[in-house]
Amino acid sequence: MCETNRGEESPKTIKVGVSACLLGKKVRFDGGHKRSHFIADSLTGYFEFVPFCPEVAIGMGTPRQPIRLTGDARSPEAVGVKTPELVVTQPLRDYGRKVAGNIDELSGFVFKKDSPSCGMERVKVYGSKGMPERSGTGLFAREIMRTHPLLPVEEEGRLNDPGLRDNFIARVYVYARWKALLDSGLTKSALISFHAGHKYLVMSHSTVMYRQLGKMLSDFTRASLEDIADSYIAALMQALGKPATRKRHTNVMQHLLGYLKNNLDSAHRADLGETIDAYRRGEYPLVVPIRLLQHHFSIHPHPYIKQQVYMNPHPQALQLRNHA
Ligand code: SF4
Repeated sequence: MCETNRGEESPKTIKVGVSACLLGKKVRFDGGHKRSHFIADSLTGYFEFVPFCPEVAIGMGTPRQPIRLTGDARSPEAVGVKTPELVVTQPLRDYGRKVAGNIDELSGFVFKKDSPSCGMERVKVYGSKGMPERSGTGLFAREIMRTHPLLPVEEEGRLNDPGLRDNFIARVYVYARWKALLDSGLTKSALISFHAGHKYLVMSHSTVMYRQLGKMLSDFTRASLEDIADSYIAALMQALGKPATRKRHTNVMQHLLGYLKNNLDSAHRADLGETIDAYRRGEYPLVVPIRLLQHHFSIHPHPYIKQQVYMNPHPQALQLRNHA
């Protein structure tokens, strides 16, 4: 894995779709916006956001009648809140399908929570008795996710959780690297190198999945390279979708410590081991032992660790590991 492919060094060429109101665009039904400081200020330094407002795109205008989901949560209708005769179900679906067919360039998507068009999950659906159940998905978001099941997606509200935020941004970078690999030409060695570079990142999510992914690449005679690659990335994105845990991070860092055992004296080894253990006990955020490991590996570089995405899954300036 090329070092310049890692999060820290990636240029701002990664494109991420976003509900337009989150960027501060005044496209809401009431003429307002829902600007997210994290998205509009912090992440714009790293990603090129591509905004979509499905309700404006289907011609509802701004300001407009608010809509809501009604009926069966699996196949709801989008109707006017005050004017139920206003039904925009099909236009929203059609627009979602049209966009979904043209976003291969995106490496992630951030949706506005609770929206009958953009909400990713737990959107209110009003049944026949008029009582809402939080069981729906926005009609636009549904089409994007259905067509692109591997695309990292998240809602802006969930990005307030440090663990989910860290996880989502890391997945966007992984997916962007995967697309870059395909663009540069899929080869057996490129696939094996990609997997090697992601070893410890996957292990922080699931040791079992790391082994399974390795197995997938152990026999290239069982299927075509393209089929193996398709299965591989599907399993990888699924594995990374499960949040990493403190216990698994500890396990990974103890493995990393092993690469330094011949370089550190006993006092430094003990200090590093104690710092990792203090992280395990919840006394430090992840950034503390990681920075210490980075410090030691900068003095004692190891070629295998240098290629590990785990050491730097996203830009350090975003401080995503400071609260994880
Ligand atoms: S949630 Fe979606 S449809 Fe609603 S204003 Fe934002 S971008 Fe437009």
